Amino acid sequence: MSLYVENTTALSKYLDLDQRGKVLAEYIWIDAFGDIRSKCKTLDAKPASVEDLPEWNFDGSSTEQAPGNNSDVLLRPVAFYPDPFRRGDNIVVLTECWNNDGTPNKYNHRTAAAKIMASYTDEEIWFGLEQEYTMFDHDGNVYAWPKGGYPAPQGPYYCGVGTGKVYARAVVEAHYKACLYAGITISGINAEVMPSQWEFQVGPCTGIKMGDELWVARYFLHRVAEDFGVKISLHPKPLKGDWNGAGCHTNVSTKAMRVPGGMKVIDAALEKLSKRHAEHISLYGKDNDQRLTGRHETASMTAFSSGVANRGASVRIPRSVALEGYGYFEDRRPASNIDPYLVTGIVVETICGAVEG
Ligand code: ADP
Ligand code: MN
Ligand code: MN
Ligand code: MN
Ligand code: MN
Repeated sequence: MSLYVENTTALSKYLDLDQRGKVLAEYIWIDAFGDIRSKCKTLDAKPASVEDLPEWNFDGSSTEQAPGNNSDVLLRPVAFYPDPFRRGDNIVVLTECWNNDGTPNKYNHRTAAAKIMASYTDEEIWFGLEQEYTMFDHDGNVYAWPKGGYPAPQGPYYCGVGTGKVYARAVVEAHYKACLYAGITISGINAEVMPSQWEFQVGPCTGIKMGDELWVARYFLHRVAEDFGVKISLHPKPLKGDWNGAGCHTNVSTKAMRVPGGMKVIDAALEKLSKRHAEHISLYGKDNDQRLTGRHETASMTAFSSGVANRGASVRIPRSVALEGYGYFEDRRPASNIDPYLVTGIVVETICGAVEG
């Protein structure tokens, strides 16, 4: 396996050089392809709050986020986190992209989602996202798969332990630590059904924080994987054939769902969701049709369904929730490559708003 990895041994010689009080702020944003870009800025002091962070900009013509003759895209800080790579007072800054004319950039879905969330703060809506992803090597082969061939069929890999049953655990462990260091609400990890496919869960997070934390956790994943010469794919069906696709199950509850009697509120939400199935699907990830086939623990793309403990339904009510009579539901439709702002936004709009028909 050809492996391109940075020479981090040489780098380590420089890492403890004194920064002379300066703070490095890595500004990250979402580009036109749902990938993450970043650039770094030196600050004179550690910010006490997000308001202390300067706005910045980048060349949007290089990322297909703006035309060349009007290329400046504004970066507006919305949250910051301790930087697990540089440590110390250094930070990672999550930003929203804005155009010169004061409108949100076409690929900035956070602004609209934050507005929806703000109008339903009384509902105290929680989300938990299960981010599945697949690892590839530098040459584009599934990580650690035999060159030009396939591993044994799926079966031993889900939550697998032991050589040949699990791959790339080092990447996963490093990412887990990085998230914890930065204060991300990472709630767990597990190896998935397809070898070299993994999942991490973030949540429960309230409102817009869900999208924020998932994007930052994704940034950490890509950065950690750089150190191992591994590529992260969020494609919903990274490999054709009898290999599981990758999703981003979206667990949802409102305050009323989380108390005794909440099942009634969950049922009402599912009724609303069933009426807007197509609209939801349109925001639930590109190429999701390759994944939502009704096989490999998915439901059909064209019809809404729900059921207790049913992993072949659009929406699953966990067995424990059905038994207790309150809790949350799991929307299994979203693909691994979703923009979580779009998904959490429309979920809130549908279940908290009025739905016609
Ligand atoms: P699964 O059994 O579907 O694999 P996971 O354990 O991977 O479930 O993920 C469940 C997710 O649901 C976690 O991210 C967790 O934080 C989240 N979650 C738990 N309770 C709630 C709740 N009341 N509201 C929203 N999300 C919740
Ligand atoms: Mn330049
Ligand atoms: Mn899971
Ligand atoms: Mn999973
Ligand atoms: Mn799930």
